[in-house]
Amino acid sequence: MFLDTPDITPYRAGTDGLAYVHTFHSGRPGPHVCINALTHGNEICGAWAVAALLDEGVRPTAGTLSLSFANVEAFSRFDRNNPEATRWVDEDMNRVWDEATLDGPRQSQELARAREMRAFFDTVDFLLDLHSMHTPGPALGLCGATAGGLDFARRLGVPEYLVIDAGHSAGKRLRDYAGFGDEGNPRQALLVECGFHFEHAAVVMAHRASRRFLDATGACPGLCADAPFPDVKAVRIVDAVTIRHPEFLFTRDWESMDSVPHAGTVIAYDGDTPVTTPCDDCVLVMPAPERYRLPGMTAVRLGRREHGDGASA
Ligand SMILES: [Zn+2]
Repeated sequence: MFLDTPDITPYRAGTDGLAYVHTFHSGRPGPHVCINALTHGNEICGAWAVAALLDEGVRPTAGTLSLSFANVEAFSRFDRNNPEATRWVDEDMNRVWDEATLDGPRQSQELARAREMRAFFDTVDFLLDLHSMHTPGPALGLCGATAGGLDFARRLGVPEYLVIDAGHSAGKRLRDYAGFGDEGNPRQALLVECGFHFEHAAVVMAHRASRRFLDATGACPGLCADAPFPDVKAVRIVDAVTIRHPEFLFTRDWESMDSVPHAGTVIAYDGDTPVTTPCDDCVLVMPAPERYRLPGMTAVRLGRREHGDGASA
């Protein structure tokens, strides 16, 4: 288990009055690009990648570059002996980004931070949101459901696997906030699940995805030494299984990106209700471990492979 965390307290002040948000202007025309870490407080790979860019003094040669840490309150409570406990303080910060929730009366630690950061994200043209996963599996780029999001992710070429999805019924993700989730909007976001939370490979992927993003968006051309993956594979989500019953059991220990050959195969029971695969060669994306299987949460997302021309397999 890799549980080392970077010290981000030197970055508390920020550059423009917003804590833990650093913005650098090149003085030349170009987009505002942002790499964000710690939407979830225990997803330490992104914190390492963003801290490294700050430590190295990376600056844009075109446009504007921002480097941000989101749920710093949850991260500040990170405990090596209980690393899962600090995903959030009050609620999932990646489910609060719909306008009605942001404008509404509800209060939480995460909503307060989201409301504080909202005007900042409104100015971002290209966003890379760095995450990691509950379970082992290959790194995944979550590119949203728009054609523009998929094109953008393919242009980055890292990671190798893309997931085309509209998000969760439990609330909007940052990657879908404002223009990022709208078809035809030129603003784009990619959420990268860099690997299992507590493996060093996730940190390596977070560095690689960050540098590739800065290279491909034109903010820092040549920063990434690694070539993009030549054959990025995409899976389109056709169903998100939201848990209804306190007892939700998978029929076996599925791993992320496992596939099931036949449509109609039972993969889980939600109480007494069987959960079946909706298509042949169905891909199981990030099945939730037992501790995260609670009513209202997403148990697993189910996908269909998609070829480069955009046609479903
Ligand atoms: Zn996350």
